[in-house]
Amino acid sequence: MKVGVILKHIWENLFTEPMTKKFPKEPVQLPEGFRGRVGYIPENCIMCNMCVLNCPANAIEIKPEEDGKRWTLHYDRCINCMICVEVCPVEALYNDDKEPFRVTSDRISAIETGKVPMVSCPICGKKVPRPSNTMVKRMMKEVTPRNLLKAAVCPQCKKDHKPEEIDAIIDKILEEGSYPDMDKLLGKEGLR
Ligand code: SF4
Ligand code: SF4
Repeated sequence: MKVGVILKHIWENLFTEPMTKKFPKEPVQLPEGFRGRVGYIPENCIMCNMCVLNCPANAIEIKPEEDGKRWTLHYDRCINCMICVEVCPVEALYNDDKEPFRVTSDRISAIETGKVPMVSCPICGKKVPRPSNTMVKRMMKEVTPRNLLKAAVCPQCKKDHKPEEIDAIIDKILEEGSYPDMDKLLGKEGLR
């Protein structure tokens, strides 16, 4: 390149904005639908394993814990394909297009994690996974304490009791406030 051309470029660049951005020090404007990072809503998750089986980067794992199951996504392995978001049947995963994806060496901020705890069947007390908000909404239109309690009735008690009997038991529990896992059921405890 001729010296004159180089000097012309230098001169022009002295009076123009730099092309590079100061991200992450300064926020960047992201286009709609940008593949940011995968977000997780444990209240909706049914631990079906679909995301684990379909993730091409082996970035998601589900492990049993003493009182439930823990779902974890390792962002340092994730390739942002959003296949997990597509295959999740209950909208427990979403593309957070407001949050730019960034690689970090900090192992704690490089994961997203949440837990689906075990709760008691309101009738016999047997431990069952906390019912998914999405499933409750689909089956009973609204996510309320009553509907969550109904969804937490174990399969055996559903067989052994008529629907009106279950309703009466749940009315009594709500009246007395006697359900031991209400905070977990409402998602106030044990989901992260
Ligand atoms: S996040 Fe969705 S696909 Fe993954 S285990 Fe939970 S419900 Fe299943
Ligand atoms: S976005 Fe793709 S790579 Fe990342 S966790 Fe989901 S399926 Fe796996």
